[in-house]
Amino acid sequence: MEVVHDYKKLKQKYQQPASKKAGFFIPVNQNKNKNMYYNENTVIYFNGQFVKAAEAKTDLYSQSLHYGYAVFEGIRSYPINGSTKMFKGKEHYDRLRHSAKVMRIPFEYTTEKLMELTYEVLKRNNFTDAYIRPIVLCSPNMALSKGKESYLAIETWEWTNGYMSNKMKIMTSSYRRPNADAFHVDAKVSGHYVNSILACQEAKDNGFDEALVLDSNGFVAESSGANIFYENDGVLYTAPKGNILPGITRATVIELCKELNIPVEEKLFTPAEMKGADAGFFCGTAAEVVALSSLDNVEFKKNWEDSLSYVIQQAYKCKVLEQQFRIEEKAVA
Ligand code: PMP
Repeated sequence: MEVVHDYKKLKQKYQQPASKKAGFFIPVNQNKNKNMYYNENTVIYFNGQFVKAAEAKTDLYSQSLHYGYAVFEGIRSYPINGSTKMFKGKEHYDRLRHSAKVMRIPFEYTTEKLMELTYEVLKRNNFTDAYIRPIVLCSPNMALSKGKESYLAIETWEWTNGYMSNKMKIMTSSYRRPNADAFHVDAKVSGHYVNSILACQEAKDNGFDEALVLDSNGFVAESSGANIFYENDGVLYTAPKGNILPGITRATVIELCKELNIPVEEKLFTPAEMKGADAGFFCGTAAEVVALSSLDNVEFKKNWEDSLSYVIQQAYKCKVLEQQFRIEEKAVA
């Protein structure tokens, strides 16, 4: 299959192999450093001010710390024509505001203001290729009632992703995703990630790179920190909304499929249907589009470079970098 695009010309840094130890939100090339996220010069936005990350303090009596009652986002910025641009920053901040709203956390910032503050944090740190982690924390309150006051922190660290050249070996987790009747699963809530830690660590302890997590009915939902697609006979499939965090990357992949005339379907499916399919991938802001090599030790059939999933991976990279992308007609015939 011939893929013609400017991606091939991109710098080496996008093609470094990912470390086996890397997780979705860990800077791939820095995970040996104890403090990989900030140093004495790093600036964050916190509680109305730009302050040094090393000097910022939070409250040990916070509802967020005790109960996981906080909402957050994960956003990527990329170098575009000599400047810095967030990919779908508006969508991420709309989701942050949605998450705060459904969790009944008071939060007054507009999407526009959040975007403006984020660009200022990036500028003050001189970051271009970065991962941005805004988090809305609640004030001290031991009661199990809604948040009284919230604090916004916008943290960022430099990011060079190596996942694009990696292939993940995944296992079906024994943990299920939080039940949609018990949680707002479409919100990005800190407490939900305890489930993600259990699933991801279980996979690593068993010699896999990541987990495939099912919903409470036994259908494939997502991974610990990314959505999932598989490919069979020229069609891409992904879990429908309802028991997943409906990712902004997932939506981008669906848009790309439409642009490139690649058939895509949202449907419920079991791990058995996915096992031994032609190809599969995870997608998320941090993960971008990462190939899967096997599920429960059953390999995906196609050579990755011959799959439509590979076309999507390349198209995604071009999309976030605002590079031109085209494939030869015969590739998707
Ligand atoms: N599912 C989960 C559980 C996640 O943590 C993420 C990462 N935010 C995703 C899916 C992908 O979402 P997005 O594409 O918006 O980053």
